[in-house]
Amino acid sequence: MTPTQRTRTYWLEHAWLDTNVEPGVALEVADGRITAVRTGVDAPPPGAEILRGLTLPGLANAHSHAFHRALRGTVQVGSGTFWTWREVMYSVADRLTPESYHELARAVYAEMALAGITAVGEFHYLHHAPGGTPYADPNAMGEALIEAAADAGIRITLLDTAYLSAGFGQAPNAHQLRFSDGDADAWAARCSLLKERDHARIGAAVHSVRAVPADQLATVASWAQERRAPLHVHLSEQTAENDACREAHGRTPTQLLADHGVLGPRTTGVHNTHLTDQDIALLGGSGTGTCMCPTTERDLADGIGPAVALQAAGSPLSLGSDSHAVIDLLEEARAMELNERLRTRTRGHWTAAALLRAASADGHAALGNPDAGTLATGAPADFTTIALDSVRTAGPVPRLGAETAVFAATAADVRHTVVAGRHVVRDGAHTLVPDVPQALARAIDALRA
Ligand SMILES: [Zn+2]
Repeated sequence: MTPTQRTRTYWLEHAWLDTNVEPGVALEVADGRITAVRTGVDAPPPGAEILRGLTLPGLANAHSHAFHRALRGTVQVGSGTFWTWREVMYSVADRLTPESYHELARAVYAEMALAGITAVGEFHYLHHAPGGTPYADPNAMGEALIEAAADAGIRITLLDTAYLSAGFGQAPNAHQLRFSDGDADAWAARCSLLKERDHARIGAAVHSVRAVPADQLATVASWAQERRAPLHVHLSEQTAENDACREAHGRTPTQLLADHGVLGPRTTGVHNTHLTDQDIALLGGSGTGTCMCPTTERDLADGIGPAVALQAAGSPLSLGSDSHAVIDLLEEARAMELNERLRTRTRGHWTAAALLRAASADGHAALGNPDAGTLATGAPADFTTIALDSVRTAGPVPRLGAETAVFAATAADVRHTVVAGRHVVRDGAHTLVPDVPQALARAIDALRA
């Protein structure tokens, strides 16, 4: 993505300025960044791009596995668990090539842009050809994802994932050979070949304590530490993982990560569902973030993680669509609050502003972009506009809060998405991928044929 070089003015009918909704805001944008924010601008200045509705900072999808999108709608029949779902997921993973993955991810990231998402954290572990043979370019699959994000006009943080074992002391199974580099040193050597670009950051991930042997966790953590790169890890999504970890190491997954230097302010635990009070204290005390994926967690019958307690302990919250059962960050945001309401039978655990912060600024920070997620001078010109005149959002225009956007709007209400000053979605249509539904259908059909 080349940021637009020319100066441009956007006039926002309403804008979310971190604490309140402001009517009539002009944003000056140059070289992909916001250079001025003017409030009290009642009418669009001449030549300005007019964004009607409520403009928010671009949303951050902090946890994605792009290829899971191919499963949508096909894994809802019958009973089962996370583990039976995983078998179906592996059958899709078995068929992907760099070409077909690029095709699919381009369409999935275009769907994200249509949902107001300006940056994705791609938790990427599908590294090698079937059987585990490296491609001629050992990062062909990761490069396909970086290119797909550019083609869809969004930012990506490629969280290149170490996935080395099937379980504690178990070699990778036949499906997982594609994921494994053999050991953490080989993982690090491959990752070190990846280059950052204007639209792409490189980060690291530990798939889970199941998939990276304890004595290799520090190698991954050091790689991220040396680069000051984000480090993500699936953590305690399932009680079975906790049980196996206790059996193998006599401690919880969180404690194991803490003991091997994985926790810290650039680290994000994904799911953080089944935790002890001590785990919560370790995560919060170390400043480790928490990425909740409520639509996936409910889809996979994972459980409800202690997000309120984690945040109170010091863990910043972000949100991800993970398995892409749906791609709608507004739904993820309200689902976090609504899950808590069901669990506690009380309301009001987070304000709409706090939920929006998780869906934007704190999500971008978890992806290594701490200056994003705000409509302020110097921030990247990444924003999205929610229609306030749809069947879902019509009514009084919000004066104080973002409640309509967070509690009533859906991805279908996203009217515009601008990334680095480039209009990626205009009036609900993607400007770079002409027919996103068709692109999705074509890419998924090719995999399932
Ligand atoms: Zn995941």
